[in-house]
Amino acid sequence: MNVDRVALRLVTARLARPFENRWQRYHTWTKLIVEVDAEGGTGRAECTAMETPFYNYETIVTAWYVIEEYLGPMLLAADDCGPHSCMRLWREVNGHEEAKGALETALWDLQARLHGRPLCEELGGSVRPVPVGATAGIEPTIDELLENVANAARTGYQRVRLKIQPGWDTDPVREVRAAFPELPVIADANAAYDESHVEHLTTLDELGLLALEQPFPRHSLPATAELQHRMETAVCLDEQVHSLRETQEAARLGACRMVNIKTGRVGGLGESVRIHDFCAGEGIPTFVGGKWDQGIGRWTNLALATLPNMTLASDVGPSDTYYDDDGAWPRLAFHEPGWVRPLPGPGTGAEPTGTLKVEREKELTKGGDH
Ligand code: MG
Repeated sequence: MNVDRVALRLVTARLARPFENRWQRYHTWTKLIVEVDAEGGTGRAECTAMETPFYNYETIVTAWYVIEEYLGPMLLAADDCGPHSCMRLWREVNGHEEAKGALETALWDLQARLHGRPLCEELGGSVRPVPVGATAGIEPTIDELLENVANAARTGYQRVRLKIQPGWDTDPVREVRAAFPELPVIADANAAYDESHVEHLTTLDELGLLALEQPFPRHSLPATAELQHRMETAVCLDEQVHSLRETQEAARLGACRMVNIKTGRVGGLGESVRIHDFCAGEGIPTFVGGKWDQGIGRWTNLALATLPNMTLASDVGPSDTYYDDDGAWPRLAFHEPGWVRPLPGPGTGAEPTGTLKVEREKELTKGGDH
């Protein structure tokens, strides 16, 4: 494809209810939306980078800079570049997987649209129902957490992921398990623990969790492997696997029995599919993790979540759980309680509404900036 325009837009959406992880409490969420044009079509993606450099070093501002100054101009200068070749084009740019992943994902959407087929099929998945999981943040009290989980269970969500950290782990998790014994629960630590907590974390075994997600920081695979060998509960990796190579290393060490695939973290949809395929061969179930995605990102994640080894509930819940207006049409909604399904396309099948507050925008073309 001969890309002739790259557009960047920062848009802010208000959350339907505040969300708190171990770093901050959110009332709004600003995302970077990218667009690529070629051959009369437009592909879109939502960059997974956040406003802050806590989950990952990238932010929407660093992603904007790297795309505007490097990735975008390189793409515009290339005569023929698509989702399979763009990473080679950008190989001299170190890291910045979330910035690269945003543009690469937009190229996948564009290619699917030009082929007139749904993005899920372009990736190797299919238009099929996908089970959906919810995430419950750290709440001021256990009662508020229970109310939040009750809402998710009542709405039909098929599992809940509880954010945990030292001081907020066994007690809230035990209460949720007692109140909702049938609801599968993942405890997600976002790397809040270290090797000194191994003994403490093994006590989570008695709570019958579906998984303990990302207990330790990124560069502590041997400790994670030791924990997995000592725990019956599956360890699920998130922040620790940024590529197929890192996933292979984690599997070789026996450091996990589940993987949460986030497109941005691993540098786009192509690498996500390769990690999915590797995990399928190893018997490691996977799901798609979200980051309070607005509509464009939510429909993209749903396409990936239709791949055959995505057997666990993915973070692709109805958008009204998260936002009053998520900036895309149609709104992603349950097709039946606990299940969603992709649109028939082309691409994600979703279009921007243009109703969100635009903080900043920029267009790059072959002829120069606008
Ligand atoms: Mg996680």
